[in-house]
Amino acid sequence: MGAGDVSLLLRGSCPSPAVPRRGAQEPTGVTRSCPAAPQPRSPAAQLRPRPALRPRSARASALFQDGRRRLCDRPGHVGAVAQGVAAAPAAIVPSRAPSRGGGRPVSRSPSGHGDGQGRGARGRGGAWRRVGAAAAAALSAMRRGSGDREPAAGREAERVGLDAGAAGEPEREAPEEPREERAPGRPRAAREGDASAVPPPPQPARARGLRLHREAAGKGRGCGRSSGNPADELRPPRPVTVDSSKARTSLGALKISIRQLRWKEFPFGRRLPCDIYWHGVSFHDNDIFSGQVNKFPGMTEMVRKITLSRAVRIMQNLFPEEYNFYPRSWILPDEFQLFVAQVRMVKDGDPSWKPTFIVKPDGGCQGDGIYLIKDPSDIRLAGTLQSRPAVVQEYICKPLLIDKLKFDIRLYVLLKSLDPLEIYIAKDGLSRFCTEPYQEPSPKNLHHVFMHLTNYSLNIHSGNFVHSDSTSTGSKRTFSSILCRLSSKGVDIKKVWSDIISLVIKTVIALTPELKVFYQSDIPAGRPGPTCFQILGFDILLMKNLKPILLEVNANPSMRIEHEQELSPGVFENVPSLVDEEVKVAVIRDTLRLMDPLKNKREKQSQPHKKPLAGKEGPSDCEPAGASDTNPNPEAHLPSICLKQVFPKYAKQFNYLRLVDRMANLFIRFLGIKGSMKLGPTGFRTFIRNCKLSSSSLSMAAVDILYIDITRRWNSMTLDQRDSGMCLQAFVEAFFYLAQRKFKMLPLHEQVASLVDLCEYHLSLLDERRLVCGRSSRAGGRAPGSSTPQGATRSAEQADGHPPCCTDSARKSSGPRRALS
Ligand code: ADP
Repeated sequence: MGAGDVSLLLRGSCPSPAVPRRGAQEPTGVTRSCPAAPQPRSPAAQLRPRPALRPRSARASALFQDGRRRLCDRPGHVGAVAQGVAAAPAAIVPSRAPSRGGGRPVSRSPSGHGDGQGRGARGRGGAWRRVGAAAAAALSAMRRGSGDREPAAGREAERVGLDAGAAGEPEREAPEEPREERAPGRPRAAREGDASAVPPPPQPARARGLRLHREAAGKGRGCGRSSGNPADELRPPRPVTVDSSKARTSLGALKISIRQLRWKEFPFGRRLPCDIYWHGVSFHDNDIFSGQVNKFPGMTEMVRKITLSRAVRIMQNLFPEEYNFYPRSWILPDEFQLFVAQVRMVKDGDPSWKPTFIVKPDGGCQGDGIYLIKDPSDIRLAGTLQSRPAVVQEYICKPLLIDKLKFDIRLYVLLKSLDPLEIYIAKDGLSRFCTEPYQEPSPKNLHHVFMHLTNYSLNIHSGNFVHSDSTSTGSKRTFSSILCRLSSKGVDIKKVWSDIISLVIKTVIALTPELKVFYQSDIPAGRPGPTCFQILGFDILLMKNLKPILLEVNANPSMRIEHEQELSPGVFENVPSLVDEEVKVAVIRDTLRLMDPLKNKREKQSQPHKKPLAGKEGPSDCEPAGASDTNPNPEAHLPSICLKQVFPKYAKQFNYLRLVDRMANLFIRFLGIKGSMKLGPTGFRTFIRNCKLSSSSLSMAAVDILYIDITRRWNSMTLDQRDSGMCLQAFVEAFFYLAQRKFKMLPLHEQVASLVDLCEYHLSLLDERRLVCGRSSRAGGRAPGSSTPQGATRSAEQADGHPPCCTDSARKSSGPRRALS
């Protein structure tokens, strides 16, 4: 899309000349909208039941009172530094591994495998202990600060085409709740929306899953197929069914979307399978065995602050230039000594350097527990080290200001499919504003939350917060209105968008490898299961020089379309928020449109309707779009889709970054046991043998030692010992080590790419051999000892490089698994 498209977007989204609205405020105003004045409700909002008045929640009240305390008054526990942090680097760290939704805790190795110096491979002993001369280059880059970084240069064509505006979000979903216990025997009929439904007898979960899956295949998915009866072809397709019983705070926007699409909602669930399940928290909100669900397994874990930092760091080790959009971060308490040493080293070299750091507790949200420090010796850091794991990060001191206020952007990104990777970005998002004019951090203002943190959930409690019905004024605006304003000042907003798209694609590329491991664990190939998609909330800060910086990714971005209004002291009412509604309803509705399982059938059936219309002359002859119930295209009356595909559209520019993804494919291939997320010693040996990586200089005994050394170190950093073995990140570390040994003279990413190529080459040869072998053995039956063709393949691979006779199903199981979409 060209510049013209951008201006089109902007025309559409720029604020129209001021139309006075009740409750609207000036952008810089300090007054709050009159709470008692009834506000005009949007037509959609009128459809919703008006919520009862309720007293201020305890949480809101606590936040209000606690606003400033958060930044400054945490009790310090000085002893913690010595005990928990200054200890030996390989110290056992209390588990901070998030428990996977399924209740199975997952090992999340806390130590980054990178050493923070642009090197990925580690030998024994953990390279992050080393704070050597090799750090100097990276440190000087840090010293320059993100503010001085130039956009990535070189291989990547930075400027991808852009399609639309953007926006951010004010508040985050409430912290994820513990996953509900699965109740395998509980029939869905208990929550039935169909009056006729008779609850089936309880069944074991898997058996029920299989049954539901078959029902889905026969009734739901089958709808796309032709029955062969011409009358069926002409009959309008049934509406898409959506189970919204677990939608939680996104329910309001979801209901409006379903109504606009003329689909059928099941607000209390349904005995029969639905086409789409909308979960408010995680994949595991409900047992699902068919259809589509709006969450990926493992996503919540992947975007936690520590996990995200670690995933991005692997990419920074491989591609430092391309991934300089993420502030330099250290994981606490594991990397506290590294943090101290690196900061000291830079300060020694340049005493005038006065950095600021932001400390963010892992798993926190809505600004909870975040504070700024100027030095690693800050007393509050000692308290954090003792109490909870956290990320400490360079603070971006020079953000772009509007009306002298700091703001960030919430962008909505749809991960439509994992394999093949499909990413969409919403044209518009939200911008959340601080409520106190910004000043660069100094000891005097470090604790000013309303100056430094853009969280809606914090700033809403400021007396300066401005609710506005206009999308271009107030403390929460559309991002497109910001772009419009920047454009009027001569800013190249096409470049800004292009950089943002690039940031989003690269971040998703960093997340996908481990997501694939989660996926195959929760939905093993060959078993019934739903397909997944997910809306992610990207929080992005624009620097003064307009470079976008990734702050974090939210797996459950708030989709609320209301905000609280105080009617009288302590009494609040939820009122519609027009800005939220405008952005979020479009995102949910258009996500549903993209995922529509009956799209093909509907499009096919709309063909006969198009023909007679095409023959008519003028628009006045046409039936208004969507006016007729017989029109099988219920989307005819809807605006064009607000989500723009960016991947695979720009795949060519970014595919070279997907090295870890290819490593994850190797890792998954050798996992062996279905549902496992860790590689056993035999699997690792088989990987080495099948890829022909052992040699006279790397004996199998050395391979075993490598496995034990790396695995033990990673596992020692988590209390999750149930699932023993090598996690993906440990495998990546081992892979980097092997790559550096084999291709000594190349830069790291070329070493790794060469080794991945080599492994894939040998495995494809092996697959070919098995294919041939399978054909010739077809008459002879299966390999002994295997009860299934897949078992034959697996036993072949587990046989330490001595593949027995196998079938051509081996190829299926060793090639790309079924689409992880
Ligand atoms: P939370 O999940 O608690 O909202 P965030 O990582 O989003 O945590 O940080 C909260 C706020 O702090 C952000 O909205 C942003 O305003 C500010 N912030 C976070 N990281 C940085 C940073 N590295 N530099 C500047 N400001 C930051």
